[in-house]
Amino acid sequence: MDESDWRRHLGRRWAEQFGGRPFGFAVGDGWDHLLAEVFRRVDAVLEDDERDAFAWSDIKEKWGVLRMTHNGSDRIDDLVDWAEAASKRICDRCGWSGRLRSGGGHWRARCDACDGL
Ligand SMILES: [Zn+2]
Repeated sequence: MDESDWRRHLGRRWAEQFGGRPFGFAVGDGWDHLLAEVFRRVDAVLEDDERDAFAWSDIKEKWGVLRMTHNGSDRIDDLVDWAEAASKRICDRCGWSGRLRSGGGHWRARCDACDGL
C-alpha cells in the first residue's frame, strides 16, 4: 500500500474516527467514494461529547458486502446500515453500478464489465 492509496488518504483525513490510529481497511477500490461519504456523514452526526470516544474497530468486505463495526451510537448504526445496503449495488472494483454475484465460491458486488475479473 503506497502513500497515494485512497485508503491511507481517507484514514489520515478522518484519523479522528480511528482514535488517531488509522488502519488499512480491506475493501475493493470501487468503494472509495462510498467510504468517503460514510466518514463525512459520521462526522456530521457525531455529537461533541461522543466525538473523542468514537472509533471504527473494523472495516472490511464479507460475502460481497461492506461490513463496518464501531463503538458509536444508534445514529452511527443507521449510517452503517445505509452503507452496507448501498455497497451491494456498487461494483467493488470500479465503482460503477453493480449487483451481488457469486463466482468461484466468492460473493462480490460487481458491474457487468467487471464480472468474473
Ligand atoms: Zn466494475
